[in-house]
Amino acid sequence: MIFTVAIDGPAAAGKGTIGRAVAARFGFAHLDTGLLYRAVGAKGGDPVAAAVSLSAEDLARGDLRSLEAGQAASVVAAIPAVRAALVAFQRRFARREGGAVLDGRDIGTVICPEAEVKLYVTASSVVRAHRRWLEVGGDEGRVLAEVVERDARDMGRADAPLKAAEDALVLDTSDLPVEAAIAAAVAHIEARLDAGRRRAAR
Ligand code: C5P
Repeated sequence: MIFTVAIDGPAAAGKGTIGRAVAARFGFAHLDTGLLYRAVGAKGGDPVAAAVSLSAEDLARGDLRSLEAGQAASVVAAIPAVRAALVAFQRRFARREGGAVLDGRDIGTVICPEAEVKLYVTASSVVRAHRRWLEVGGDEGRVLAEVVERDARDMGRADAPLKAAEDALVLDTSDLPVEAAIAAAVAHIEARLDAGRRRAAR
């Protein structure tokens, strides 16, 4: 079965948590596409060459989750040739046999517009910065400034800007407990899977 769950949204909205939970629930493979851009940014040198030659070791670096790696990722992610170099791998992953969940910024809009399920997971910048601060520590004001700066870059770039696909289910996790957000995502996916099964049985 080919079945893609595309999850987009800004940093620290809960995409990864929801993505991992629904992948485990349905037995789908999961790809955190932000890691690809983080690895390109962390590699240094020419970002296009880094994207073209990205390896499993690059993705296994221990420092990819830092605030600095997030900022570097969003700078290289605005370069069209970097994005182009990463498209084929993500598309293949999305349409692999057995189902796939991808989270990122442009999955439902650019990488897999044909995805069976699209979710747009968001939250206020203050709530997202607080969550990120709980993970990374340091000065919370600086974390908020970085979140706002990265949102502006990701939403304002010309190539594949962050935005909700028209047919995405929007989940605002500002006041929604993570279990409730996961339950809403699971119910939405189940409804789509059922509709697909009914169509196939006709
Ligand atoms: O999701 P994460 O915070 O790891 O993403 C890091 C950066 O990578 C984002 O701020 C964004 O600039 C870029 N990115 C992207 N498209 C994706 C995933 C991430 O442009 N599909």
